[in-house]
Amino acid sequence: MDEQLLKNHFYERLQRDVPLGRFTTSRVGGPARFYISANNAPRLAEDIRFLWDHDIPFFLLGSGANVLISDTGLDAVVVHNQARQITVSPNGERPTITAESGTIFAAVARQAAEYSLTGLEWASTVPGTVGGAVYGNAGAFGSNTQSNLVAAEILHREKGYLLLSSEDMAYAYRSSMLKRDPGKAVILTARFAVEKGDKESIQALMSEFGERRRRTQPAGPSTGSTFKNPPGDFAGRLIEAAGLKGTRVGGVEVSPLHANFFINDGTATARNYYDLIQLVRNTVLEKFKVQLETEIEILGDWQDA
Ligand SMILES: Cc1cc2nc3c(=O)[nH]c(=O)nc-3n(C[C@H](O)[C@H](O)[C@H](O)COP(=O)(O)OP(=O)(O)OC[C@H]3O[C@@H](n4cnc5c(N)ncnc54)[C@H](O)[C@@H]3O)c2cc1C
Repeated sequence: MDEQLLKNHFYERLQRDVPLGRFTTSRVGGPARFYISANNAPRLAEDIRFLWDHDIPFFLLGSGANVLISDTGLDAVVVHNQARQITVSPNGERPTITAESGTIFAAVARQAAEYSLTGLEWASTVPGTVGGAVYGNAGAFGSNTQSNLVAAEILHREKGYLLLSSEDMAYAYRSSMLKRDPGKAVILTARFAVEKGDKESIQALMSEFGERRRRTQPAGPSTGSTFKNPPGDFAGRLIEAAGLKGTRVGGVEVSPLHANFFINDGTATARNYYDLIQLVRNTVLEKFKVQLETEIEILGDWQDA
């Protein structure tokens, strides 16, 4: 990577060796060799265009709620998406709410509630940015991004700016056309359909969802569900049935409350997470002949960490 080229373009925005654990929900992850943050969507688009034009490897980071980054970090430019503008169009037959892709999705849900707009209550409990949700079809409590998305504005490496509908995204369970073909496009903004509703009922539903989550999922730093649910079963059920609740590697433990959540006690390393993932995967394979696949993205170098 040509550091001088990066310096000449990004000037004082460019930082070096920035620890990424502070930006991930598991609180682990080594340094980004280079780091820039983008605080609006046009700036994000310009930054990405520059990196593509110069073939510079980069990783676009949202809230780090679905990634495990190695302790050695990322030998790339990490672009931290902090483009967070929300625009509400509450009137007319089809109210919508539009957000830049670095907006925390839960903040979009709360803003909808402020305007007595219903339909996004489920998103109030899902960690992560709008970009991460649109990319991975985040969902909870029987709803998902696919059912709310009207259109996403994206920048495509070869095709430039595109406006993609929910159908265009070819969504599947926790997957999209963008996720199946990574590195080709970034989401800049997303517009969500909502409906006029009653503010108190909206807030009551959000509280209920929050309460349900607190009852069934552990608090504390984690990457959320570590493994995808295999067809017809639940990863958490299999891990629990394998007797792995409470299993520990270093500072990370299989949660006694929900076995698909691995909790950092404050001392964990990314390597601890990685090793616990292998241990759980191997044990479940041995006991039940089911090969679990990670839901989280595992990034970086794991050779000799
Ligand atoms: C405690 C906990 C609970 C969770 N519960 C749920 C749940 O109920 N339902 C659910 O679906 N998920 C859940 N998750 C997972 C997580 O919330 C989602 O995957 C979320 O959408 C990730 O968003 P993010 O901004 O953190 O993405 P990141 O982890 O930062 O990035 C994930 C991927 O998305 C890509 N990406 C991010 N932004 C963009 C963009 N603008 N354009 C293109 N690509 C982009 C990144 O490059 C990366 O490949 C949970 C996670 C945690 C920690």
